[in-house]
Amino acid sequence: MNYQQQTMQIKTNLLQIQQQISNLSEDVTLVAVSKFHGADKIIAAIEVGQKIFGENRVQEAQSKWPEIRLRYPDIELHLIGSLQTNKAAEAVSLFDMIESLDRPKLADSLLKEMQKQQRFVPCLIQINVGKELQKSGIMPQDAEKFLQYCLNIGLDIKGFMCIPPEGINPEPYFQYMRELKNKHKLPILSMGMSSDFEYAIKHGTTHVRIGTAIFGERLI
Ligand SMILES: *Cc1c(COP(=O)(O)O)cnc(C)c1O
Repeated sequence: MNYQQQTMQIKTNLLQIQQQISNLSEDVTLVAVSKFHGADKIIAAIEVGQKIFGENRVQEAQSKWPEIRLRYPDIELHLIGSLQTNKAAEAVSLFDMIESLDRPKLADSLLKEMQKQQRFVPCLIQINVGKELQKSGIMPQDAEKFLQYCLNIGLDIKGFMCIPPEGINPEPYFQYMRELKNKHKLPILSMGMSSDFEYAIKHGTTHVRIGTAIFGERLI
Protein backbone atom coordinates (compact mmCIF):
# COMPACT_ATOMS: atom_id res chain seq x y z
CA MET A 1 0.00 0.00 0.00
CA ASN A 2 1.20 3.48 -0.72
CA TYR A 3 0.96 6.27 1.80
CA GLN A 4 -2.41 7.53 0.64
CA GLN A 5 -3.99 4.08 0.61
CA GLN A 6 -2.63 3.42 4.06
CA THR A 7 -4.08 6.65 5.42
CA MET A 8 -7.45 5.89 3.83
CA GLN A 9 -7.42 2.38 5.25
CA ILE A 10 -6.82 3.65 8.80
CA LYS A 11 -9.65 6.14 8.51
CA THR A 12 -12.01 3.48 7.18
CA ASN A 13 -11.01 1.03 9.92
CA LEU A 14 -11.47 3.63 12.61
CA LEU A 15 -14.91 4.72 11.45
CA GLN A 16 -15.96 1.08 11.26
CA ILE A 17 -14.75 0.33 14.80
CA GLN A 18 -16.46 3.46 16.12
CA GLN A 19 -19.68 2.26 14.48
CA GLN A 20 -19.34 -1.25 15.92
CA ILE A 21 -18.77 0.19 19.37
CA SER A 22 -21.70 2.58 19.23
CA ASN A 23 -24.00 -0.21 18.01
CA LEU A 24 -23.23 -2.05 21.25
CA SER A 25 -23.12 0.78 23.75
CA GLU A 26 -23.50 4.52 23.91
CA ASP A 27 -20.85 5.17 26.46
CA VAL A 28 -17.70 3.29 25.65
CA THR A 29 -14.51 5.26 25.08
CA LEU A 30 -12.12 4.11 22.37
CA VAL A 31 -8.41 4.25 23.16
CA ALA A 32 -6.54 3.87 19.85
CA VAL A 33 -3.36 1.90 20.53
CA SER A 34 -0.65 3.38 18.33
CA LYS A 35 2.42 1.53 19.60
CA PHE A 36 4.93 0.74 16.82
CA HIS A 37 3.04 3.01 14.41
CA GLY A 38 4.46 6.33 13.22
CA ALA A 39 3.16 9.88 13.37
CA ASP A 40 1.63 9.76 9.86
CA LYS A 41 -0.71 6.96 10.83
CA ILE A 42 -1.55 8.58 14.14
CA ILE A 43 -2.43 11.85 12.41
CA ALA A 44 -4.71 9.98 9.99
CA ALA A 45 -6.66 8.78 13.03
CA ILE A 46 -6.74 12.25 14.58
CA GLU A 47 -8.13 13.62 11.31
CA VAL A 48 -11.23 11.48 11.65
CA GLY A 49 -11.80 12.63 15.20
CA GLN A 50 -9.86 10.18 17.37
CA LYS A 51 -8.77 11.96 20.57
CA ILE A 52 -7.46 9.28 22.94
CA PHE A 53 -4.39 7.19 22.21
CA GLY A 54 -2.52 4.46 24.06
CA GLU A 55 1.20 3.68 24.03
CA ASN A 56 2.92 0.87 25.89
CA ARG A 57 6.46 2.24 26.19
CA VAL A 58 7.62 5.50 27.67
CA GLN A 59 10.63 5.81 25.40
CA GLU A 60 8.71 5.27 22.19
CA ALA A 61 5.96 7.65 23.29
CA GLN A 62 8.55 10.28 24.12
CA SER A 63 10.04 10.11 20.66
CA LYS A 64 6.70 10.39 18.84
CA TRP A 65 4.21 12.38 20.84
CA PRO A 66 5.60 15.77 21.88
CA GLU A 67 5.61 16.88 18.24
CA ILE A 68 2.13 15.55 17.50
CA ARG A 69 0.76 17.16 20.65
CA LEU A 70 2.08 20.54 19.65
CA ARG A 71 -0.10 20.34 16.56
CA TYR A 72 -3.07 18.72 18.29
CA PRO A 73 -3.11 19.96 21.88
CA ASP A 74 -6.41 18.36 22.90
CA ILE A 75 -5.21 14.77 22.48
CA GLU A 76 -5.22 12.53 25.54
CA LEU A 77 -2.43 9.97 25.89
CA HIS A 78 -2.65 6.83 28.05
CA LEU A 79 0.20 4.61 29.19
CA ILE A 80 -0.97 1.01 28.81
CA GLY A 81 2.32 -0.90 29.19
CA SER A 82 4.35 -1.84 32.23
CA LEU A 83 6.32 0.99 33.78
CA GLN A 84 9.71 0.87 35.47
CA THR A 85 10.07 3.08 38.53
CA ASN A 86 13.05 4.85 36.98
CA LYS A 87 10.77 6.10 34.18
CA ALA A 88 8.13 7.50 36.55
CA ALA A 89 9.19 11.12 35.99
CA GLU A 90 8.87 10.87 32.22
CA ALA A 91 5.59 8.99 32.49
CA VAL A 92 4.06 11.63 34.77
CA SER A 93 5.02 14.46 32.46
CA LEU A 94 3.98 12.75 29.22
CA PHE A 95 0.77 10.83 29.94
CA ASP A 96 -2.75 11.91 30.87
CA MET A 97 -3.64 8.56 32.38
CA ILE A 98 -1.53 5.64 33.60
CA GLU A 99 -3.48 2.41 33.09
CA SER A 100 -0.74 0.04 34.23
CA LEU A 101 -0.22 0.75 37.92
CA ASP A 102 0.52 -2.66 39.44
CA ARG A 103 2.74 -2.51 42.53
CA PRO A 104 3.30 -0.44 45.70
CA LYS A 105 6.81 0.64 44.78
CA LEU A 106 5.54 2.11 41.51
CA ALA A 107 2.66 3.80 43.34
CA ASP A 108 5.20 5.46 45.67
CA SER A 109 7.42 6.61 42.80
CA LEU A 110 4.49 7.99 40.81
CA LEU A 111 3.10 9.88 43.78
CA LYS A 112 6.49 11.43 44.51
CA GLU A 113 6.86 12.55 40.90
CA MET A 114 3.31 13.89 40.73
CA GLN A 115 3.93 16.00 43.82
CA LYS A 116 7.23 17.22 42.45
CA GLN A 117 5.74 18.15 39.07
CA GLN A 118 2.40 19.25 40.55
CA ARG A 119 0.72 17.14 37.89
CA PHE A 120 -1.73 14.62 39.33
CA VAL A 121 -2.24 12.01 36.64
CA PRO A 122 -5.24 9.68 37.15
CA CYS A 123 -4.38 5.97 37.27
CA LEU A 124 -5.95 2.58 36.72
CA ILE A 125 -4.82 -0.51 38.59
CA GLN A 126 -3.82 -3.30 36.24
CA ILE A 127 -5.10 -6.69 37.37
CA ASN A 128 -3.36 -9.89 36.28
CA VAL A 129 -6.79 -11.38 35.90
CA GLY A 130 -5.66 -14.78 34.59
CA LYS A 131 -2.85 -15.06 37.20
CA GLU A 132 -0.33 -15.57 34.41
CA LEU A 133 3.34 -15.69 35.37
CA GLN A 134 4.56 -13.79 32.31
CA LYS A 135 2.05 -10.96 32.63
CA SER A 136 2.25 -7.85 34.71
CA GLY A 137 -0.56 -6.62 36.90
CA ILE A 138 -1.41 -7.18 40.52
CA MET A 139 -2.83 -10.60 41.38
CA PRO A 140 -6.62 -10.58 41.87
CA GLN A 141 -6.35 -11.65 45.52
CA ASP A 142 -4.11 -8.65 46.25
CA ALA A 143 -6.16 -6.12 44.30
CA GLU A 144 -8.29 -4.69 47.10
CA LYS A 145 -5.40 -4.23 49.51
CA PHE A 146 -3.40 -2.53 46.78
CA LEU A 147 -6.32 -0.27 45.88
CA GLN A 148 -6.59 0.81 49.52
CA TYR A 149 -2.86 1.45 49.62
CA CYS A 150 -3.00 3.66 46.54
CA LEU A 151 -6.01 5.61 47.80
CA ASN A 152 -4.42 6.05 51.23
CA ILE A 153 -1.23 7.59 49.88
CA GLY A 154 -3.36 9.95 47.78
CA LEU A 155 -3.26 8.65 44.21
CA ASP A 156 -6.25 9.39 41.98
CA ILE A 157 -7.43 5.85 41.16
CA LYS A 158 -10.20 5.82 38.57
CA GLY A 159 -10.63 2.09 38.09
CA PHE A 160 -9.09 -1.10 36.74
CA MET A 161 -7.46 -2.43 33.59
CA CYS A 162 -6.77 -6.00 32.45
CA ILE A 163 -5.54 -8.17 29.60
CA PRO A 164 -7.24 -11.59 29.85
CA PRO A 165 -5.36 -14.79 28.90
CA GLU A 166 -5.07 -15.43 25.18
CA GLY A 167 -6.88 -18.18 23.34
CA ILE A 168 -9.61 -18.90 25.88
CA ASN A 169 -13.02 -17.41 26.50
CA PRO A 170 -12.43 -13.98 28.06
CA GLU A 171 -15.96 -13.57 29.40
CA PRO A 172 -15.46 -14.94 32.94
CA TYR A 173 -12.47 -12.60 33.34
CA PHE A 174 -14.40 -9.61 32.05
CA GLN A 175 -17.25 -10.45 34.41
CA TYR A 176 -14.86 -10.65 37.36
CA MET A 177 -13.50 -7.22 36.47
CA ARG A 178 -16.96 -5.74 36.22
CA GLU A 179 -17.80 -6.99 39.70
CA LEU A 180 -14.54 -5.62 41.09
CA LYS A 181 -15.25 -2.18 39.62
CA ASN A 182 -18.83 -2.14 40.88
CA LYS A 183 -17.81 -3.26 44.35
CA HIS A 184 -15.49 -0.28 44.69
CA LYS A 185 -17.76 2.15 42.84
CA LEU A 186 -15.02 3.32 40.53
CA PRO A 187 -15.90 4.93 37.19
CA ILE A 188 -13.48 3.27 34.73
CA LEU A 189 -12.90 -0.23 33.42
CA SER A 190 -10.37 -0.64 30.60
CA MET A 191 -10.59 -3.99 28.84
CA GLY A 192 -11.16 -5.38 25.36
CA MET A 193 -8.73 -5.31 22.43
CA SER A 194 -9.09 -5.95 18.67
CA SER A 195 -10.07 -9.60 19.09
CA ASP A 196 -12.41 -9.39 22.07
CA PHE A 197 -13.77 -5.88 22.50
CA GLU A 198 -17.36 -6.90 21.76
CA TYR A 199 -17.27 -9.25 24.76
CA ALA A 200 -15.72 -6.57 26.96
CA ILE A 201 -18.53 -4.17 26.04
CA LYS A 202 -21.09 -6.88 26.79
CA HIS A 203 -19.55 -7.10 30.26
CA GLY A 204 -19.77 -3.42 30.98
CA THR A 205 -16.37 -2.02 30.08
CA THR A 206 -16.10 1.76 29.83
CA HIS A 207 -12.89 1.84 27.74
CA VAL A 208 -11.61 -0.46 24.98
CA ARG A 209 -7.99 -0.41 23.78
CA ILE A 210 -7.75 -1.23 20.08
CA GLY A 211 -4.62 -1.27 17.94
CA THR A 212 -4.44 -3.84 15.13
CA ALA A 213 -8.03 -3.43 13.96
CA ILE A 214 -7.34 0.29 13.38
CA PHE A 215 -3.69 0.57 12.35
CA GLY A 216 -3.07 -2.90 10.91
CA GLU A 217 -0.41 -5.39 11.93
CA ARG A 218 2.56 -4.10 13.88
CA LEU A 219 5.78 -4.56 11.95
CA ILE A 220 7.91 -5.64 14.90
C1 LIG B 1 -1.09 -3.68 22.14
C2 LIG B 1 -2.06 -3.55 23.23
C3 LIG B 1 -3.43 -3.39 22.96
C4 LIG B 1 -4.01 -3.44 21.55
O1 LIG B 1 -4.02 -4.74 21.08
P1 LIG B 1 -4.61 -5.08 19.62
O2 LIG B 1 -4.78 -6.55 19.65
O3 LIG B 1 -3.59 -4.63 18.63
O4 LIG B 1 -5.90 -4.36 19.48
C5 LIG B 1 -4.28 -3.22 24.04
N1 LIG B 1 -3.82 -3.18 25.31
C6 LIG B 1 -2.52 -3.33 25.60
C7 LIG B 1 -2.08 -3.27 27.02
C8 LIG B 1 -1.59 -3.51 24.58
O5 LIG B 1 -0.29 -3.65 24.89
